[in-house]
Amino acid sequence: MPLREWLRPPQSLLIILCLLTLVSISALAWFGWRLLDQERLVEAQRTRERLEQAADRIVSHLRVALVSDQPDALVTIIDNSIAGKLLYSPAPARAPEADPRIFSEAESLEFVQGQPRQAADAYERLAESGDAAIRAGALMRLARVLRRLKRDPGPVHAKLERISGAAVAGDPADLVARDALAEWEAIRRDLLAGRWELSEAQFEYYWKRVSKDPPPEDTLALAEAATLVWADRNRNFKTQDTLWVRDRPFLIVRRGRALMVMRPAAVLGPVLSAEDAKCAVLDREGRLIMGERSGMGRAVVRTGAENQLPWTLYVTGTRASSETGTVARQRFLMSGIGIMVLFLVAGTYFIARAIRREIEVSRLQSDFVSAVSHEFRSPLTSIRHLSEILALGRVPGEERRQTYYDTLVRESQRLQRLVEALLNFGRMEAGRRQYQFEEMDASALVNRVAAEFESNGRIELVSAGDACLIEADPEALSVALRNLVDNALKYSPEDRRVWIEWSTENQFVAIGVRDHGAGIAEEEMKRIFQKFVRGSAAAAGNVKGTGVGLAMVRHIVAAHGGQIQVASRLGEGSTFTMLLPALLRAGGRV
Ligand code: ADP
Repeated sequence: MPLREWLRPPQSLLIILCLLTLVSISALAWFGWRLLDQERLVEAQRTRERLEQAADRIVSHLRVALVSDQPDALVTIIDNSIAGKLLYSPAPARAPEADPRIFSEAESLEFVQGQPRQAADAYERLAESGDAAIRAGALMRLARVLRRLKRDPGPVHAKLERISGAAVAGDPADLVARDALAEWEAIRRDLLAGRWELSEAQFEYYWKRVSKDPPPEDTLALAEAATLVWADRNRNFKTQDTLWVRDRPFLIVRRGRALMVMRPAAVLGPVLSAEDAKCAVLDREGRLIMGERSGMGRAVVRTGAENQLPWTLYVTGTRASSETGTVARQRFLMSGIGIMVLFLVAGTYFIARAIRREIEVSRLQSDFVSAVSHEFRSPLTSIRHLSEILALGRVPGEERRQTYYDTLVRESQRLQRLVEALLNFGRMEAGRRQYQFEEMDASALVNRVAAEFESNGRIELVSAGDACLIEADPEALSVALRNLVDNALKYSPEDRRVWIEWSTENQFVAIGVRDHGAGIAEEEMKRIFQKFVRGSAAAAGNVKGTGVGLAMVRHIVAAHGGQIQVASRLGEGSTFTMLLPALLRAGGRV
């Protein structure tokens, strides 16, 4: 429909309706958006509060953790002693070593008198000593003499290896023995585990003997950190401090006379994981100790200075469970609004459709009124004209007068038929039409109706020959057939022949009216059976009519328990077929 048509008075209703719907949807959308916004704000507020609470809890837990006993201390320095499992110690405690004078007699046998065998016996006797340091010194010297005597020192080294807590020539006795026995892997493992208290130089010497690679950065960093703290132990360390070595943070805690070195994760880890919070922990210089920097913009901050902590804490998030609830609420809200919008659109669509239908019906009705007026005008005009001539006595001969009378009768019959048809249609529409059913032969009905159109002389009857019994209202069915024949004649301007065919097919009697006329377009075929609808053939041929003929046929056929079918091709003609339930020859229904 062109836009101008839509803007005509009844259509403007549709536009108003659409506008109102649009306004309502916009209002709904705005309201929904505001609601969501509000919800987001409230949620942000709630999240903030949760973060604040979590941050406070973390701070208080950390404070307790920092002042309680530190089982995780890696290194403890008290006054001038240092304890801890380190690769090397800045102040290694020397293991006891035997006085060299104890061995002077045996060494004189070995070196001055050149009697290694006697020296070996002397060392063996000393190796029986109850003092571990003397035993260790004797065994080491015994191994030396045995080598000179070209004997295997292995068993002696094995004995030496079992002595712990004694030193020979400044090195731990068991380390020296293992070195002699070439037990590199065991030495490496125990060096890393910090089994011996070694100086840095001792460690480096033995490490080079067991491995080409440097020791792991982590353990090396710890040893370096311990060395630094040891060197500065008398400087005023803060109660808690962070020391960076090899890009690794170490926490220094002062408790009374003790200085402890530990990894920050050992203190932070349990507290943060118990809180299940996402955090970033920075030292006083702003270096990241734990966590991630992302999201720090929105985080709740607790500075170290305010909270007597060595770190600044950024709490960026907590458990996701509450967020899931928010998402669910937002989804619920959005789907609620979505459903309301859907209802609005659907409601508008149905109302618009109803309005359009009403508009269409009112247009059809006004077309119908003008069509009926035209139908009435021509018979009335000729009746009036002829009766005037007759009344004035101006008709010349008797024969002419008779023709006038015949025309008058025919025109008034046509008028009556028209009125009857309209009245009948009205009754049918209201469901008040009474049918008088009786058993009859379709052939008789066809012959009778065809006879009415005899004057046209163009009706051909085609019958299968057998009797076609039906139960029908003869008058109503004649009206239906007459309408179909009438249409066939009206809409066949060129080839004016019309065929009426009837036969019994399956359980139906089919009465068809065929023409070679204008034909019906595919898209019109359903519509033409609606009341007041006139097709393009009517408009093209300027054919008179009211648009109720086929609607009436459909009513009548349906009242007989049958159906009407149409087959047509544009420009080639149409066939309208009434299918009516057949009766058996004996009179019973098939
Ligand atoms: P009317 O003939 O008064 O217009 P009908 O209800 O009898 O009303 O027919 C409706 C429309 O169907 C007609 O306007 C015409 O376009 C189409 N029609 C009916 N019969 C034929 C036919 N035999 N051939 C072509 N068109 C037809």
